[in-house]
Amino acid sequence: MEPTLILCPACHKKISASVEACPQCGHPITDHDREVGKSKLQTKRIIFFIGIVVASFLTIGGIVAGMENKETKQPSAPTAEENQAAVNSSPAFPYTAEDIVTVFNSVAHDLNYQNRAVIEETKTGNVATAINVSVGKYVNLIIAVPLGREKASGVMLIGSGDGTLKSSADIVVGMIILIATMSPELEASDRGGVLRELGLLNSKELPTGKTSAVRGHVRYSYRYVEGKGTFLAADAI
Ligand SMILES: [Zn+2]
Repeated sequence: MEPTLILCPACHKKISASVEACPQCGHPITDHDREVGKSKLQTKRIIFFIGIVVASFLTIGGIVAGMENKETKQPSAPTAEENQAAVNSSPAFPYTAEDIVTVFNSVAHDLNYQNRAVIEETKTGNVATAINVSVGKYVNLIIAVPLGREKASGVMLIGSGDGTLKSSADIVVGMIILIATMSPELEASDRGGVLRELGLLNSKELPTGKTSAVRGHVRYSYRYVEGKGTFLAADAI
């Protein structure tokens, strides 16, 4: 039997879920840490996978739309010409990845959000660089920048809640901050309008299918995948 692995909340190393304290850094491990550590490890795997797909195929919204409870299938490898065409034709935001992180953090500050976006790692593939940005315990962003260009073409927010109100609030407010970042022209009420159109404010039940909303040159695509998390993509169109 493989031991169940979790991520240590302090040093973020993979450790056994059965230990009382992290063998790497000595941080005491509570039952709550075990739950969060499990979902965080799961999120890390998903981020790694999505990072590879983004870097290879540049389809942030397409990944959200195509996500299923089963394994997400990768399309067959495109040719070099198809890669180049994808890079050349990909609409982009007027922002670099660093701009997005800076504006996200500025909005986060204004909204008294306690988490801040921090760039963690980048993966470069055939058509894009995928930049993984950590935003506290429950939220990550993946920013796609087409190869050879400076401006981002898409951003995906991945929320991995642990069932607590705190994690849900972190994820929903994170989404509002992402919308405010990518659509700075929207009034606060219009940001709520985007969430409503995505089906996120209508009831206590999250929508089970995929939903989308367009504002200006941004398409928002939402999907909740049982056991994997909450995904909100913002693509330049
Ligand atoms: Zn540790």
